[in-house]
Amino acid sequence: MKVIFGGTFDPVHIGHLRMATELLSALEVNRISLMPCYKAVHKESVAASASERLAMLTLSCEEDEHILVDDREIRRGTASYTIDSIRQIREDGVEEPLCIVMGTDSALSLDSWCEIQSFASLTHVVVVRRPGESEAELNLMRQKLSALGFTWADRSRDLHAKPCGLALLLELTQLDVSSSMIRASIKENKSIRYLVMGAVEKYICDNGLYRN
Ligand code: ATP
Repeated sequence: MKVIFGGTFDPVHIGHLRMATELLSALEVNRISLMPCYKAVHKESVAASASERLAMLTLSCEEDEHILVDDREIRRGTASYTIDSIRQIREDGVEEPLCIVMGTDSALSLDSWCEIQSFASLTHVVVVRRPGESEAELNLMRQKLSALGFTWADRSRDLHAKPCGLALLLELTQLDVSSSMIRASIKENKSIRYLVMGAVEKYICDNGLYRN
């Protein structure tokens, strides 16, 4: 099964890496791909360039054979619509089950995503719970995915048995760190040590990223 965890990764931090690691066991897979967007469709601005974000991801993952970097959106170099990446993966001949991972917040806004009606015939969706969300939000999210043609699975093993069309809700560790918190710390001259990999801290410092 191919698992894709997309994001802006501006910059990638230990919350992303811990989540990717927990997804490996929760989904019973040996590999997960982090897929940085070129130009985020759902975010107003991105601070570092696509090549800098990709460089930081590559540095973070190079010593972990289980976490890969999928740079297809950056190579495409256009606004990053997930549907284009999913189609490209299928066109590359990937017939195995495919999972797109997202937080509950993203899942709640799925109905505004480009060509969302096509998703269930191409991929599974794995929704990871975010801190502070209410039961009402969870229920709404469940209804939205059902209305989009997804069937809720009880366990990850079900996802291995079908190529697409299932949704799974997971509760994994959410470390209290975000890219925006890291960017703000740098601006305020505060240390970001241990919030990102050491090589990323050095890259940010050497290249003067996020200072203004
Ligand atoms: P920003 O603070 O700029 O909004 P971010 O830290 O949320 O960025 P993104 O690149 O937007 O990072 O997130 C990519 C994915 O990682 C999203 O699915 C998001 O839900 C998830 N994610 C972000 N932070 C964490 C965290 N601390 N723990 C687990 N998952 C996270």
